[in-house]
Amino acid sequence: MRLLVIGGSDAGISAGLRARELDPTADVTLLVADRYPNFSICGIPYHVSGDVPDWQSLAHRSLTDLETAGLQLRLQHRATTIDPDAHTVTADGGNVTFEYDRLVIGTGAVPARPPINGLDRFGPADGVHLLHTMDDTFTLLRTITDRHARSAVIVGAGYIGLEMAEALTTRGLTVTLLEQVPQVMPTIDPDLAEPLAAHLRDRGVTVHTGTKVHTIHRIPGGLVVDTDSGDHTGDLVLVVTGVRPDVQLAADAGATLGIRGAIAVDRGMRTNLPDIYAAGDCVHTYHRLLGQHVYLPLGSTAHKQGRVAGTNAAGGNAQFAGSLGTQAVKVFDHVVAGTGLRDHTARAAGYDPVTVAATADDHKAYYPGATPIRIHRCWRRSALDRPWTAARRCSQEATVSWCAGGSRIGSRRHPVTASPWPCCGCRVAGWWRVARRGRPGPGPAVSW
Ligand SMILES: Cc1cc2nc3c(=O)[nH]c(=O)nc-3n(C[C@H](O)[C@H](O)[C@H](O)COP(=O)(O)OP(=O)(O)OC[C@H]3O[C@@H](n4cnc5c(N)ncnc54)[C@H](O)[C@@H]3O)c2cc1C
Repeated sequence: MRLLVIGGSDAGISAGLRARELDPTADVTLLVADRYPNFSICGIPYHVSGDVPDWQSLAHRSLTDLETAGLQLRLQHRATTIDPDAHTVTADGGNVTFEYDRLVIGTGAVPARPPINGLDRFGPADGVHLLHTMDDTFTLLRTITDRHARSAVIVGAGYIGLEMAEALTTRGLTVTLLEQVPQVMPTIDPDLAEPLAAHLRDRGVTVHTGTKVHTIHRIPGGLVVDTDSGDHTGDLVLVVTGVRPDVQLAADAGATLGIRGAIAVDRGMRTNLPDIYAAGDCVHTYHRLLGQHVYLPLGSTAHKQGRVAGTNAAGGNAQFAGSLGTQAVKVFDHVVAGTGLRDHTARAAGYDPVTVAATADDHKAYYPGATPIRIHRCWRRSALDRPWTAARRCSQEATVSWCAGGSRIGSRRHPVTASPWPCCGCRVAGWWRVARRGRPGPGPAVSW
């Protein structure tokens, strides 16, 4: 079986490795547009900050590791056309043709380009940067060094903007962070975002939310970003306002596009084209609670979808279980994390939700270093009608470290690594109080 994979990041590599795991005789070739297969682009902020000084450490596996696992890598081979009838892919403008029995597309995403005047004219040579690849990182670092940059304006306060605000501050730059919506990290509740913005300000970052960016100008020795909240100057501008799926190659071959223009796949990661699978940031993603597809570009999801695509391409029968939208971000000394649905998304999906909020220590208060955690928990309102069932369920969940990113740490309750109180008792107490007060209506989280 000849498996061809387009893309050498989370989705492509996991598809290739999985196929070889299941069929060690499979001939697996990966076409990779750049020179950095299996690099953790999630780690870019930590190389920029200097926390990870050697960029090569960002590689999950070395080229030798990948080749030893049976993958044949064609680096700097950009696929340019797919012929689904002939089962061929051409690369490098048609100079090389690859035949396949099965194909996995893992072309990922490209940075979004918001409608800001000047963004079409200015680029890295002017100090205006987007950030998605290792090459983008090296270009940004060159700007910082060559221009002796002392200040940066970041457009976008999603998780990448926040991580880069920390990274550039740690590197010694003065950072201004601009966000169009009224809060940083728009994917969390506003009263969880407020302490995060305060923490950024405490660390010297100037934060402007509810601020639309109109124009980027060049002035002698720097750049000016013209916004609703006035002009902000910097030696460099970093625009990190999300991504869009990279689908041109697949669309030209006749792939059906789905949510937000991503490649439409079923839960086996099959496209509408024969023998062609797709996975990662280039596809739409099945959301387990919503029961429908959404666009959720995340490395963890790309990896799992890649495994499913690799399994099925190798003749297996796997299904992507679905995403819960779990996310976690560290910004200086703050961590925010979430999983599942928020009040408004749950309501929009037809649930009748109620969100209960609590502040509790992350571990037993008597042990040094106890730190308060603010927790919002969104439940079906009907859970309030059966508080002890809910309490029992909470107790079972008490050792799920969802506040720290959603990974299970087993059933151990240790005073230092996990306090039962924030995960269990306080929620139950909250339900009782809410229940005594009557049923809260829609709106902000109910606190106690
Ligand atoms: C700064 C930053 C921080 C992040 N932090 C996190 C995090 O903490 N947690 C998390 O879950 N996610 C994070 N992400 C997102 C995560 O990195 C992506 O979701 C993940 O990399 C997607 O993997 P992918 O394989 O689908 O695509 P990509 O990583 O976009 O890779 C696409 C691959 O396809 C190749 N390619 C593209 N077109 C072609 C072509 N025509 N021919 C050949 N090759 C091609 C590229 O060279 C690349 O190898 C972060 C992203 C960034 C930029």
